[in-house]
Amino acid sequence: MAEPVEIILEVGNSKSCPICEKKSTATYQPFCSKRCADIDLHRWLSGRYAVPSERAEDDNDANSDADL
Ligand SMILES: [Zn+2]
Repeated sequence: MAEPVEIILEVGNSKSCPICEKKSTATYQPFCSKRCADIDLHRWLSGRYAVPSERAEDDNDANSDADL
């Protein structure tokens, strides 16, 4: 089996990931990876649904995709 390779395509207007400012990929644009896309999604959801302040940190380790 081949190792999973992160495909980075050179796009004309080179955008950078708004999360970590690495070069974004075509797959996860405008992010660089699924991890950063998830981070942004969580931020967005947190803002939208305004979770109670008691659970400030809600790390779901079971869902952590190691993209490095
Ligand atoms: Zn990133």
